Amino acid sequence: MPKTTKEIKRNVQAPKGMHDILPRDIPWWRKFETVANDLAEAYGFRKIITPITEETDIFSRGVGLETDIVNKEMYSFKTKGGDFLTLRPEGTAGVVRAYIENNMSTWPQPVKLYYCGPMFRHENPQKDRYRQFFQFGLEAIGDPSPVIDVEIIWVSYLIFNSLGFKDINFEINSIGCPACRADYLKIIKSFYKTKQNKLCSVCKERFKTNPLRLLDCKEAKCQELRQGLPSMLDSLCPECHDHFHQVLDMLDYLQVPYTLNPYLVRGLDYYTKTVFEIKTISGDSAISLGGGGRYDGLVKLLGGSSQPAVGVALGIDRIISVFQALHDKEPNIKKNRVYLVQIGEAAKKRAFLLTEDLRKSGISVYSSLSKDSLRNQLKTADREKVKLALILGQEEEREGTIIIRDMESGIQEVVMQDKLVPSIKKKLALE
Ligand code: AMP
Repeated sequence: MPKTTKEIKRNVQAPKGMHDILPRDIPWWRKFETVANDLAEAYGFRKIITPITEETDIFSRGVGLETDIVNKEMYSFKTKGGDFLTLRPEGTAGVVRAYIENNMSTWPQPVKLYYCGPMFRHENPQKDRYRQFFQFGLEAIGDPSPVIDVEIIWVSYLIFNSLGFKDINFEINSIGCPACRADYLKIIKSFYKTKQNKLCSVCKERFKTNPLRLLDCKEAKCQELRQGLPSMLDSLCPECHDHFHQVLDMLDYLQVPYTLNPYLVRGLDYYTKTVFEIKTISGDSAISLGGGGRYDGLVKLLGGSSQPAVGVALGIDRIISVFQALHDKEPNIKKNRVYLVQIGEAAKKRAFLLTEDLRKSGISVYSSLSKDSLRNQLKTADREKVKLALILGQEEEREGTIIIRDMESGIQEVVMQDKLVPSIKKKLALE
């Protein structure tokens, strides 16, 4: 049986967990990108664009075989040539691959890079959790100093500040280096030995494969069982302890709002020492807008020389949804936008050149060149909410004039075409 229009429509939708970013949302995205790019550049980070797919191995080795991302969430496929590729679930592993491949260890260190683009994770979609989402990230590779951890946190903080976010908080912890973490893992194992049967099914598995993740389980019964577990901070070796205290000391000095969260471990295997998550309140609950930390072992793990590194990834989709709730007014509304109405063949052709003159003077022109009726075009101008419509009919074209119509008052004025730009600028109060 042929499908009804309703049935056909129902199937015309983006893949599950993926969404369109429509023109009406773009001003907020642009504002975020401008603020984030400008701040990154001002602090010496340079943009890098890596492919959206990498060899699967980069993520399974880099992010870690026992992580949710690699275990359950990767979009992996075999190419016609027999390569195993994965749509990137996060940005760091690809940036590190690029660092190694392009011999960036011979550049002045640290190499400070930023990226922006879509990430893919096959998660259960829910509010603010998508299967394709965008991240903006900063990475600083090749410097072990705690001051670089602080620089990454500071620039992230400034991005939120510049967007007008008021209640940003950094949750911060240190998960130490492989040496002191090994001691702590023994403590976790012995702490949970008699409790493991009471853990949720995920934690039971993690007890065997990735015991650190027992700390950040969201299940109430697991959180109860966690009570009394010694803090990782008490197991840090002197170097990790000192590193963490220097980070906290500088954050205090800079008055970056943070709270210690001894249960924060982050879902990715590659972190060492400092880890943090950026939270804000949305409605009744806290949501995570970004996270990051140090990953001193990753460059070597992926085949490069041993290089310390630190980074952050901000979740743009979530940031935009909070940003829109915060400011219902569109940021950076383009005031210099007009609608050009044309009537007749000569005016239609002339409209191309007039649009170009206006564009060169910084004025954006909307038009519907295929339409002929004045009424129709003025209706569209009204829907586009422009302040001014320019009307170019046969008579005006013959006489070298044009009508400027104020859409709100309906008042019209005839001006010479060669005086059009200054007249518009005056009316739009651009000068
Ligand atoms: P992660 O790479 O998991 O540390 O995530 C960093 C940030 O990216 C999070 O704080 C979120 O804001 C955002 N994020 C992570 N996963 C998703 C997702 N599935 N949908 C939307 N945003 C996400």
